[in-house]
Amino acid sequence: MIEGKFYKREKDRLVCELCPRYCRLKNGQEGFCFGRENKNGKMVVTNYGRIPSLGLDPIEKKPLYHFYPSKMILSTGPNGCNLRCKFCQNWQISQTKVKTEYVSPDSLVSIAINRGSIGIAYTYSEPFIWYEFVYDCSKLAREKGLKNVLVTNGFINEKPLLEILPYIDAMNIDLKSITPEFYKEYCLGNLEDVQRTIKISFGKCHIELTNLLITDLNDDKKEITDLINWISNISDEIPLHISRYFPAYKMHKPATDPKKLYNFYLMAKKKLKYVYLGNVYIENTGNTYCPSCNNLLILREGYITEIKGIAGNKCKKCGEKIYGEFSLI
Ligand code: SF4
Repeated sequence: MIEGKFYKREKDRLVCELCPRYCRLKNGQEGFCFGRENKNGKMVVTNYGRIPSLGLDPIEKKPLYHFYPSKMILSTGPNGCNLRCKFCQNWQISQTKVKTEYVSPDSLVSIAINRGSIGIAYTYSEPFIWYEFVYDCSKLAREKGLKNVLVTNGFINEKPLLEILPYIDAMNIDLKSITPEFYKEYCLGNLEDVQRTIKISFGKCHIELTNLLITDLNDDKKEITDLINWISNISDEIPLHISRYFPAYKMHKPATDPKKLYNFYLMAKKKLKYVYLGNVYIENTGNTYCPSCNNLLILREGYITEIKGIAGNKCKKCGEKIYGEFSLI
């Protein structure tokens, strides 16, 4: 049995301090995320190494467009989540309990090496609720020269985040909305905690952001403007993926109108150097262009990626330095 890293005792309860939800668990109670339990006064990690799915994906699927483009990455994730997004596009493994199998960190790293993966992506559901397992795998993977990628909602406390960041190479963090009300009402979360994660992580590892644009919920012009401004105030280098929503889980609003996605894309391009549309095909909106001379650097058609005008991390035409890690190219 693995003991959880971050918790304290309070009278007859254990308080989990891994994420801002601070579950207060009596003996026998399970955390909101399904990942830990108070077992006779000890916080036990119940999801350690428990894997519902494992696959080799293009890194573009995470989505990460500026981190070893065109490479494949072994991808896995836990069962459960510490948010309850009504529109969750992966709700089967994040919001319901599913069958899992045990895989040790050693085995996971060996699978990644044997399959020719550049590393391990902890994804599909929320990797921070798998903290101890991700931590152990990341350390081991790093020793073997593999990359570690997190695809996360960013809902984690500062201390555990700072402890794991030295082993993480890249993150795609969801920024679901720029309003606290949205996070409260539709995710049972808190915007400020996610913003803190983004601010801390930028500069410590490679960062890209994703915003799922949902019909009539977070597609208001003012909200979009605020979101773009907030990102650009941290850095205009951070790639932003604007993703099309489709009805899922408890959200039945119609799929996002492609015109709204494209308008958002054009607005974001005025302030941010790298903006992409996902889950929709609108010509050229998946390509990477040099922000200085507009040279086509990387062409993308679905998950087919062609490296065109970039060498190392520089534009071949004008020499502009491009944010990201491209050195395997
Ligand atoms: S990590 Fe899980 S158990 Fe801990 S506070 Fe968050 S939701 Fe609760």
